[in-house]
Amino acid sequence: MARGLDPTSREALEERLRFYRDLGLTEFYRRPVDLALLEQLNAAPLTGGVATENEGETGANRQADANQNSQTQSQNSQTQSPGEDQDIPPRKPISAPPQVAAAVAVADRETALRMIREDLGDCTRCALHKGRNKIVFSDGSAHARLFFVGEGPGADEDAQGLPFVGRAGQLLNNMIGAMGLKREEVYIANVVKCRPPSNRTPEPEEANTCSPFLFRQIDVVRPEVIVALGATAATYLLGQRQPLAGLRGRVHAFRGSKLIVTYHPAFLLRDPRQKKEAWADLQIAMRELGLNPPQRD
Ligand code: URA
Repeated sequence: MARGLDPTSREALEERLRFYRDLGLTEFYRRPVDLALLEQLNAAPLTGGVATENEGETGANRQADANQNSQTQSQNSQTQSPGEDQDIPPRKPISAPPQVAAAVAVADRETALRMIREDLGDCTRCALHKGRNKIVFSDGSAHARLFFVGEGPGADEDAQGLPFVGRAGQLLNNMIGAMGLKREEVYIANVVKCRPPSNRTPEPEEANTCSPFLFRQIDVVRPEVIVALGATAATYLLGQRQPLAGLRGRVHAFRGSKLIVTYHPAFLLRDPRQKKEAWADLQIAMRELGLNPPQRD
């Protein structure tokens, strides 16, 4: 398969095909080479070429495909934390989301986001700052129609200062690509902007301290659709603790946007059988955005 591609592109293509297969899309036909697609595959953030040598991801883990057994997967700190319906301490309060801010003129969105970043500064508001390397503010477009919210940076993100650039990020890139979008067209941020030690779930105090910045980012971007990736994102966005099962599969009205809850990509790496479910959630998002499902011929 894919003879003539360089190893990185080939690996990315194989990963994409595995993703489609897991979604139940199994029949593909060859078309003449699409140069734009080739270029996209060669662009580092979309290919997985960004996965770097660092403590969060061993070479063995990077090679592991989505079907690898969960014991090996759990050694990868990228995939450790975001379980679904996981361990947000039950008795600790979750702050109610703040009031929606006044709309920012479309032309001023980049500036407004820069101002939020400046307000955040070299943040020491919670204990997470002690272990961080880089603050992970966001990635993507200030004009995105679709906004993904994850839990918090892992080792790769902490090293690079960008969200979702490790293995879970590769899967998220594939999910975005499967929706017919490019990573640079969407906006990506997390509930907390500093890496929790050993990729543990953020404490309520940490998430409550950091999430006001996320809400400000959402209010500036004003996306049509927000996808909450996993239980932590769903919990702190909606301001209520509820099992993921009760939140998935429907559209929540949220700060003038439509919010859809799905599994965290790191969870999907551990349990690839749930990718079909995640794809069903993403199709709800696509429907709300008026996007067509990918062509199968
Ligand atoms: N997991 C997250 O929740 N966010 C990231 O940015 C990376 C992994």
